[in-house]
Amino acid sequence: MPPGRAGSLESLRRLNRLRVIRALRDEGQISRADIARRTGLSRSTVSSLVADLQADGLVIERPEPGSAYGAQGGRPPILLSFDASAGAAVGVDFGHSHLRVAVSDLASTIIAERTRPLDTDHDATEGLEMAAELVVETLADAGVAREAVIGAGMGLPGPIDQGEGIVGSSAILPGWIGMTAAAELRKRLDVPVMVDNDANLGALAEAAFGAGRDAGDLIYLKISSGIGAGLILNGRLYRGSAGLAGELGHVLVNPDGIVCRCGNRGCLETVAATGALVDLLRRSHGEDLTVAAMIEAAQAGDAGCRRVIGDAGRALGQVVATLLNVLNPEMLIVGGDLAGAGDLLLDGIRESVARAALPETSRGAQLVAGVLGERAQVLGALALVVSEADRALPTRLALAG
Ligand SMILES: [Zn+2]
Repeated sequence: MPPGRAGSLESLRRLNRLRVIRALRDEGQISRADIARRTGLSRSTVSSLVADLQADGLVIERPEPGSAYGAQGGRPPILLSFDASAGAAVGVDFGHSHLRVAVSDLASTIIAERTRPLDTDHDATEGLEMAAELVVETLADAGVAREAVIGAGMGLPGPIDQGEGIVGSSAILPGWIGMTAAAELRKRLDVPVMVDNDANLGALAEAAFGAGRDAGDLIYLKISSGIGAGLILNGRLYRGSAGLAGELGHVLVNPDGIVCRCGNRGCLETVAATGALVDLLRRSHGEDLTVAAMIEAAQAGDAGCRRVIGDAGRALGQVVATLLNVLNPEMLIVGGDLAGAGDLLLDGIRESVARAALPETSRGAQLVAGVLGERAQVLGALALVVSEADRALPTRLALAG
């Protein structure tokens, strides 16, 4: 079995681990039974995940104060709490034109965060150097020593082959294609590094901490300068055989359309990614129109901007309708830069979905905007670290001292 395949089999456990951590984080103190109730996981799954977290020194247990043997004479419930301070995680999110770094505790609560604009045509080495630099600065802001970091997660806007961690050819950052990104960042930071696709990380974050907390089957759609989907099926992140699952931006929607960066014609990205929308508006709205300004104008009532965003939603909805028919998810969560347009975008998607999807599948799928906004990817990167940290934490002794 190739390593990537083994990884995807384990991802169910990882997401469940994050859900248990979230319950512990939200409640402060909670019993195993209540974790099972909150997460919908079985008692035995919860017990086994808690045992792992205890073995890692992340969960502390104590009997509920004052409730020693109750009227029924049963055992007092044992309350668990999460020791989020047992280490720190680093998240690195490479966007099309930005770099974001966050440092969190082990419950993915962000302690410090920095962003920096990124030249779209930067080469990977340049990007990695800048990331390493920004990590050092953000750790200093957070007052966290390098020895306390259990790992770093990195999100990249392109397909990632989990086996070798190689960035695939439809990546939106051309300078990164073919790069073994995890190994390169590991060299610079000297901590374990995990890499995943940006849409997958958005899906993971929304499922663990955001709008999809109760969903076992969800699709996260990231609409920015590229378009991609993160699929959580049966509680697992589904990556496909080579990390290409969810490359929705390259579904053909217009056979006579313009040529896409992938070499095909009329891909969804050529009509609904943010660059395509801004291009449509340049003649009427000026050469220096930005995505943020377009969304702001649309919300203020500008007819042209509203039109362009609504049309993008309808084009997205066509493709999404097929996904809903094929996968029958509970939720479709829309994220990325264009999600800031809210219902101006979502209503367009809903309109096409209502027309093109099976009525039962579209009724069964809740269509919402993500709640984590531009932090979704970096939170997913942080969650990736914590969910992978099943191994002994090498830094615990250093931290305890
Ligand atoms: Zn394409």
